[in-house]
Order: sequence, then C-alpha cells, then structure tokens
Amino acid sequence: MKKICVVGSLNMDLVVTVDRFPEPGETITGREFATYPGGKGGNQAVALGRLGADVLMVGKLGNDLFGEQYLSNLKENGVILDGVKVEEGVSSGIAVIEVDSTGENHIVIIPGANGKVDRAFIEENWHLMEERDIFLFQLEIPIDTVLYAVKKLKRAGKIIILDPAPARILPDDIFLNIDYITPNETEMETLTGIRIKDVDDLKEGGHWLIKKGVKNVIAKAGKKGAYLVTSDDFVHVPGFSVKAVDTTAAGDSFNAGFAFALAQGRGIIESIQFANAVGAISTTAKGAQSAMPSLRQVETFIGQQTR
Ligand code: ADP
Repeated sequence: MKKICVVGSLNMDLVVTVDRFPEPGETITGREFATYPGGKGGNQAVALGRLGADVLMVGKLGNDLFGEQYLSNLKENGVILDGVKVEEGVSSGIAVIEVDSTGENHIVIIPGANGKVDRAFIEENWHLMEERDIFLFQLEIPIDTVLYAVKKLKRAGKIIILDPAPARILPDDIFLNIDYITPNETEMETLTGIRIKDVDDLKEGGHWLIKKGVKNVIAKAGKKGAYLVTSDDFVHVPGFSVKAVDTTAAGDSFNAGFAFALAQGRGIIESIQFANAVGAISTTAKGAQSAMPSLRQVETFIGQQTR
C-alpha cells in the first residue's frame, strides 16, 4: 500500500439556519446552530482515513476551540497529525453559513490559518513528505505554496493529484507537474476558458489541459460519473445510481477514493470506478464528512451494484 499525503485547507463550517436572512442593521433570532469540520484538504484526508489509507495531513489550524475540535476529528478518522501545526495569532479557517427555509444560503469564508500555509511550512514538513508517494492538493491554501510544493515533489518523483477547486485560473507552469487533474464542469470552464455544453467540449477542455502538460485529466461529471482524457484516450466511466440527498464534498470523496485505489495498486480506470462509488455514497446523507464511507461500505456497495 502506497503512502498518501494531503496538503491543504482545514475549515470549520458554522451553520446557522434561519427563516429568512436579516436585512442590513437588523437582528433576528435564528432556528439552529451546528458546526461541521470541512475544508477541501480536511475532507479529502478524512475520506482517506475512513477508507483505511495511510494518510498524513499537512496544514494549519488556529489556536482556538475550532482548532482543537478539528484535531480530534482528524485523529478519530485515523489521519496522521504530524504535519498539522497550530499557528499562534490567527484563527482557524472557518466558513459562516446561513441557510434560509428555502435552502438558499449566504456564506462568508475566513481562510485564517490556511492562509499561513507557506513555502517555509513545506520545508518544515519536507522530511515527512519525502517518505510519502501520492500527494493530493486543492486550491484553498495560497497558490504560491501549491506551485512551490508540486514542483519540488515532482523533482522527487512523486505522484501528484490536483483538485482545481474552488475554480480559478492557474499559472501555466503548474500543469507540467500534475499527474492527475480532477476538474468538475465549472472548474474545467474556468481553467480552459472553454464553455462546456456537451461531451465534445469536455474532450476539448481535456486536450487543452493535456497540451499544457498534465498527464491525465479526470473530468468529474456528477451522477454521470467521470471522463478520462489522456493524449490518446477518451473514456467515460459511468457513475453509480443513488438517491442523492446532499452532494457537498462529493468531489472530495471522489478524489480520496481515486487516491486510495491508486495506492492499492489498481489501474486508472478501476481507480476511477472506485472513486465514483465513494463519491456516490457520500451524496446519500447530509453533510460533508458525515456520509464518507469505510472501505467495507464501498465494497458492499460495489458488490450490490454488479449482482
Ligand atoms: P464536485 O462535487 O466537485 O462538483 P461532482 O458533482 O462531479 O463534483 O461529483 C464528484 C463525483 O461524485 C462524481 O464524479 C461522481 O462520481 C459522484 N457523484 C456526484 N453526484 C452524484 C450523484 N447524484 N449520483 C451518483 N454519483 C454522484
């Protein structure tokens, strides 16, 4: 089993439910309040931990209650904490989310400690990272750090998976270092500037990324599953049919599933199938991390589908 490392964000989601949003200057009484661990980096690490992967998290939390809560969450899910630092003088990353009775939301994100994941922090953790084989990145820590880390890791011969989320334009010199990029439709549009209306556009977008130097493009396509684009292949890997309740973090679950299957030594198509299963299961209950499955759950699910 190959060793995995997630370098990325840790956020606590603070969710408030209200009948209606307050007007500027108005105070209202809401219905409920709950906190959920999130952030794309933490989500991917927790999903990997649940699957039973050997996974190291590299990221930062603030010296506050959310930081403490998040550390125990990572620990409970079997994530190795040696690369997680509690940074003084800054809050943990948080998202303040208001949800009204129609399901509409208002969200404010404070990057906090995630914004302090810099080049020096990569150097600090290099001795731990060097011992790992497969690396997962997303775009909720400074882009300069992502670029610095992927270049250094590529020189060291590591396997790099980039989830280009949240959507943003990327500098050209990142692509040569990426083995697998996993955009959803919106992210593909932002990265390539190509409007994605159908499968042909997806193929064109994939080839745009391949020309830039990415080795494999895995385009995530919701319930349709995913499409693999390489320099000489275009393969549709169909999704699983489930009753989706909440698709939050389906993309993170997919990436974790993909990395886990690669770490087990599975081939790329088989790894995408496994990722589709993890992504699909994660949509069947509310919340980001709450519905992420164990390996046994994934195996049972796949077994039921093919029977
Ligand atoms: P993101 O969450 O990044 O927007 P997607 O919505 O494409 O990405 O979801 C990621 C993956 O999760 C999909 O590629 C698919 O494997 C799985 N998935 C998402 N939504 C569903 C769904 N409704 N039914 C089955 N699988 C799903």
